Amino acid sequence: MKTKDVLKKHLDGIVLQYGNHQGLSKEEAAYFYIGPHEEVAPGVWHFYSLAHSITFICGDRLMQVDANIGFKAPEVIAEMRKVTELPIDSIAITHGHIDHCLGTWHYVQDNLDRGFQRPDVIAHRNLRARIDKNKMMEGHRSGTDKKQFQFDMKLKEEFVYANVEFTDRLEITINDQSFKIVYGNGHTEDSIWVYNPERKVLCCGDLFQWTAPNVGNPYKMQRFAIENAQALEEMAAQEAEVLCPGHGPVIYGKKEIKSCLHTAARYLYTIQDHVVGCLNKGMILEDTVNTLEMPEDLMNSKWLPPLYGHPVFIAKGIFKRYAGYYTGRPAELFPPNYADIGKEVVALAGGPQPTLDRVHTLKEKGKIELACQLSEWLIEADPDNHDAWEQYGMLFKERAEKEFNMQARGTWNQAVRRAVSNLERLEG
Ligand SMILES: [Zn+2]
Repeated sequence: MKTKDVLKKHLDGIVLQYGNHQGLSKEEAAYFYIGPHEEVAPGVWHFYSLAHSITFICGDRLMQVDANIGFKAPEVIAEMRKVTELPIDSIAITHGHIDHCLGTWHYVQDNLDRGFQRPDVIAHRNLRARIDKNKMMEGHRSGTDKKQFQFDMKLKEEFVYANVEFTDRLEITINDQSFKIVYGNGHTEDSIWVYNPERKVLCCGDLFQWTAPNVGNPYKMQRFAIENAQALEEMAAQEAEVLCPGHGPVIYGKKEIKSCLHTAARYLYTIQDHVVGCLNKGMILEDTVNTLEMPEDLMNSKWLPPLYGHPVFIAKGIFKRYAGYYTGRPAELFPPNYADIGKEVVALAGGPQPTLDRVHTLKEKGKIELACQLSEWLIEADPDNHDAWEQYGMLFKERAEKEFNMQARGTWNQAVRRAVSNLERLEG
């Protein structure tokens, strides 16, 4: 088989990991777990989907937490309606990521179609700006999702702005059930959590999501580590007996929930303290990242596998928050063109063939980061070099196959796509 076809076969074999976890336990599937809906406490139903939603039966009305991604909401609503036909009183949106908020319109419409009143939509006041940002950045969002999640999502649905907004905290009562709705920040600037003390059910949105915290995402806008850690601690103090996260399996038991939330907080504080310490010593980004040592119990925590977030992403996110994007290397403030660096490196190596050979040697020695960097310089320096593109594609294909972290894997697969399109260009 031609290299180009091997690469295409690899790309065709990519599956969406959400819900695709045959043979793994719930805990091993972690962030990607999607299962049948569960009655997690009397009259409280947790519905699994690309992002989960929770329906609280409160006497003759419902409290809804989160609304799924738009195209999944109708099927979740159909399942929810098998459980209860009561009117939805309120919908609380934990944050303005599309997997949690875009289906809101479907929940509102379902109520109206049944002849019920329009439900209140409750959110932090920052959701408004977040929705405006979502609309402004739709092209970027769809391109990024293709890189991150490996699939195309064309979105047509309408966003729904909240009609009940709050700043710090809000308490609402529906019949005999109360809901504490608290600003958490962290994962996004509009993240909230919802606690129902009567049934001791806590909905944390994505402030905890069965992965190393997704704070410092390389593709996304600024997130807030220390605020996320503080929200985790405040949630841990609620004495919840059921924790419904935005992704991954429901967690039961007061002790287990406290331990999970405190562990996630410690994970963030560890990196926050390290980066702040480095910045105050005048260390540059590279040295800050390279001297980060994560305690083994955190790296091996079942709740925090680095499959979406990653300690390096978190460290870089914190660094950028406080110190901007300057790497600390003066030559990189106004850097030369990447292709020009590539041409110089390839010339120093003695031309494309010695460079190809060196990439091969580095790969054989297990120095994959160096091999990829050199290969990237080569294709930039010599973009019509067929062998260079084949090597580049195969290198990143192998790297993707071994990669545990979804965002890194998505990035390596983007390199494979680039190799395929250039090989197609060169082969005519
Ligand atoms: Zn989410």
